[in-house]
Amino acid sequence: MQPREPASYVGRFAPSPTGPLHFGSLVTAVASYLQARINNGQWLLRIEDIDPPREQAGAADAIIKALDRYGFEWDGETIFQSRSHEAHNIALQSLVDRDLAYRCTCSRRDLLEAPTGLLGTIYPGTCRDGCEPGESAIRLRTNNIEISFDDTLQHAVSQRLERESGDFVIRRRDGLIAYHLAVVVDDEIQGVTEVVRGIDLMDSTPRQIWLQRLLNYRTPGYLHIPVITHPDGDKLSKLTGAPEISAAVVGQTLSRALLALGQKPPPDLLRWSPADIWSWATENWQPEELIGQRSIVKTP
Ligand code: GLU
Ligand code: ZN
Repeated sequence: MQPREPASYVGRFAPSPTGPLHFGSLVTAVASYLQARINNGQWLLRIEDIDPPREQAGAADAIIKALDRYGFEWDGETIFQSRSHEAHNIALQSLVDRDLAYRCTCSRRDLLEAPTGLLGTIYPGTCRDGCEPGESAIRLRTNNIEISFDDTLQHAVSQRLERESGDFVIRRRDGLIAYHLAVVVDDEIQGVTEVVRGIDLMDSTPRQIWLQRLLNYRTPGYLHIPVITHPDGDKLSKLTGAPEISAAVVGQTLSRALLALGQKPPPDLLRWSPADIWSWATENWQPEELIGQRSIVKTP
């Protein structure tokens, strides 16, 4: 028997267990799954459970069950990000050891007067040259280099971090590893070659690319899909009361997800089995339909 070729494409879906799967996250999962399938790649499921204060009991389980019910097939075991704790700390330490990151004791109040940029408060650099001992966050140094990437669907994105965010937090004051660092370490360890996710994270990408460069990691491709909104323009999320996707009307919900992604499923697809729906969707997947689109209104 021939040894199996290592997959040259590795994609992933990386939900945070802050609530059950709603229609917006389903659409992201569908896009990322189809990209992996048309590339004959692997598709990983990673539960990003490293922020306990934001998590909801039972959400990880509910997400896994829903994906299973909707016929998604992921490669290998479900990955729990909390289990990469040691790798996150090793990466953090290597940044601190090389003086690329430093302790910051500033409180939220200390930063109230700081100017804001595209990415929120611009850290004024108060602790760059040292600060008092005590409870502290860890910030990554940034500079004025232009960081750009070409998104597969969206316009080219370019940021100079010094003027958009300034030095940003990679370990929070409460000791938790910040999302940017965790996501970059895990994507590297798991060999992810393309990140497919919602456009609301597109502005985070330059900070993540900066981290990849400092850690000598590869930079994956990026494909940011439009955000699904309510008719009034608000993003579908737990905060705006988006309900859990139904376990009963799988075909209908998948059909609506494909329509939201600009695909043209046959009208009777909603009555097909998930397996048949996935074959059709893989054969006909055309992400180009979404080029340049930033949001999609969810139809009832
Ligand atoms: N865990 C993040 C979220 O649910 C997504 C991370 C990513 O895809 O980079 O918003
Ligand atoms: Zn500070």
